[in-house]
Amino acid sequence: MNTVLLKGKPVSENIYNNLINRINSLKSVGITPQLAAILIGDDPASQVYVRNKSRAFEKLNCKSQVFKLGVESSESAILDLINNLNSDDNIHGILVQLPLPKHLNSKTILHSVSPNKDVDGFHPSNLGLLLEGNPFFIPCTPQGVIEILKYYNIEVSGMHAVIVGRSNIVGKPMFALLAQKFEIGNATVTICHTGTKDLEAYTIQADIIIAAAGVPEMIKGNMIKKGVNIVDVGINRLDDNSEKGYKIVGDVDTDSVMGIAKSVTPVPGGVGPMTITMLLKNTVKSAEKFRQLTIARLNN
Ligand code: NAD
Repeated sequence: MNTVLLKGKPVSENIYNNLINRINSLKSVGITPQLAAILIGDDPASQVYVRNKSRAFEKLNCKSQVFKLGVESSESAILDLINNLNSDDNIHGILVQLPLPKHLNSKTILHSVSPNKDVDGFHPSNLGLLLEGNPFFIPCTPQGVIEILKYYNIEVSGMHAVIVGRSNIVGKPMFALLAQKFEIGNATVTICHTGTKDLEAYTIQADIIIAAAGVPEMIKGNMIKKGVNIVDVGINRLDDNSEKGYKIVGDVDTDSVMGIAKSVTPVPGGVGPMTITMLLKNTVKSAEKFRQLTIARLNN
C-alpha cells in the first residue's frame, strides 16, 4: 500500500484564503482582530510558540500583543492583567501560553479568561458547549485534526477511531468532536491512556488513530491494521548528532507504518501548522461576534 503523507500546509493555506475575506470585511468597519498572548517565564519552547503565533497574525494583517511576565510573577498580577484584557474592546482573543511556572495554578488562571475571548477553547464553559454539541470556541489542535480529516476526505462517520491520550487540550476534546454527530464525526471512539493495559489490542482495531501521548514514536507498524488513517499530534524532541543537537519526532514511528497505513500526518509539517491556523480562525470568529454585538447595541 502506498501510504499518503497528509501535510498540514495545504490545509492551513486553504483556511487562510477563506479567512482573508472575513478579516478584510472586519477591517472595513474598523475592527482588526487582535490576540493578547501572555507569556510567563522564559521557557524557550514557549517563546518560539508565541513568536510563531504572532508572526501568523501579522502575516494576515491581524494584530497580536505579547505580554511577557517574569517567572516569579504572582497569581494576582496575572489575574489583574487578564481582567484588564477581558474588558478591553480592542482585544478579541486571550491566550495564556502553557506550561505555566510550577507555583501558579493553571486552572485558576485559565478560568479567569472570559469565555468570550477564550480562543484556545480551554474554559470550562467552552468545553461544556462542545460536549453539549453546540461549540463556539473549539480547542485549536483537535479542531486542526478535524480540518485535516475533512480536507483529505477521510471517512470518519461509522469508523472506529482510537485516540491515544486523554489531556484536556487534545485527547478529551478530540473525543467530543469525533464521537458526536458533527459533519466530521459520528465515529465510534476509544480513548487510550496510561491506564490502558494492552494499547496494541485497541490500535490494531482502529480505522483512524489519533496519537497524542507525547511518547516518541510509540505507535509502530505492528500495532496497526492495514489501511488505517493516522494523525500524529505528538511533538517530541530527540537528541541526535545533528548541528542543532536534536530532531523533532511524533508519537508515530513513521518509517514502520509506511506501506501499512493508508495515510499518516508527518511530524513536523502535519498537525503543527494547523494549531496556529485554528487560533487565528477562533480570533476572527471572536472579532465577528464583537462586531455583531456592537451593531445590536447601537440598534437598541
Ligand atoms: P499530556 O502529557 O497532557 O497528555 C498525554 C496523554 O497521553 C495523557 O493523557 C496520558 O494518559 C497519555 N499517555 C502518555 N503515555 C502513554 C502511553 N505510554 N500509553 C498510552 N497513553 C499514554 O500531553 P498533551 O498536551 O495532550 O500533548 C500530547 C502530545 O501532543 C505532546 O507530544 C505534545 O507536544 C503534542 N502537542 C502538539 C500540538 C500541536 O500543535 N501539534 C499541540 C498540543 C500538543
